[in-house]
Amino acid sequence: MSLLKHFNQNRHHVTNPKGKQKARDFIKQTFQDLGLITWSEEFKPDFPEYATGVNIVGMLPGTLAGSPNDRLFLIGSHYDTVRTTSHGVDDNGSGVVAMLQVARQIATDFSKCTRSFSILFVAFDFEEWEECSNTTLNPRCACGTIDCGSRAFVANLTRFYNGSLKSNGKLQGVNHIGHRDELQQHSPLADSATISRQVFPDIFHQIKADEFRGNFLSVVWATSGRCNSTG
Ligand SMILES: [Zn+2]
Repeated sequence: MSLLKHFNQNRHHVTNPKGKQKARDFIKQTFQDLGLITWSEEFKPDFPEYATGVNIVGMLPGTLAGSPNDRLFLIGSHYDTVRTTSHGVDDNGSGVVAMLQVARQIATDFSKCTRSFSILFVAFDFEEWEECSNTTLNPRCACGTIDCGSRAFVANLTRFYNGSLKSNGKLQGVNHIGHRDELQQHSPLADSATISRQVFPDIFHQIKADEFRGNFLSVVWATSGRCNSTG
């Protein structure tokens, strides 16, 4: 529902800046409605004269938030699209909606479950990049190297160490929601899927045994009435 309603149009700073802003607003509002500590991080992409990048962050503090023992876990997906897409549902509206649903589950359905560590949900801007030297094809190109947004976020992570966010947490894990980027893109070919070994070792081995085919949809849940999650 969210996917079709809120991530059904181009989200590129040149071809549909209003659509991009609308997506930003929706993500931010959703984080706030879920009670997350929410902020935006503006950054300069490769050509800042054409656009300011905006990563949107929602934080769910654990009981150790603000202490040196906190270990941050980051769940992210990118909300921008390429210039030429008509809707950007597959890449990567699907991933953003999945991230928002995970946030909803953890923040509301399991709000009584105590967690030691803080979780960051991050909607990245400018994952998509273009050939900026080709000004005919890509006028006002802003990001000429892949992942301008997530690199800017990592460069800014010192905020967690210097105490300005009242957390000295170190990053313990990252999960980028997508199937090699796009959650819904199906591929029966070997080596078409990527998955992090650290997050779900059992599932990793199953997919490895299937030669990393992108023929699955991953689902994460917690057993009803229990606070420890299973995969
Ligand atoms: Zn993408």
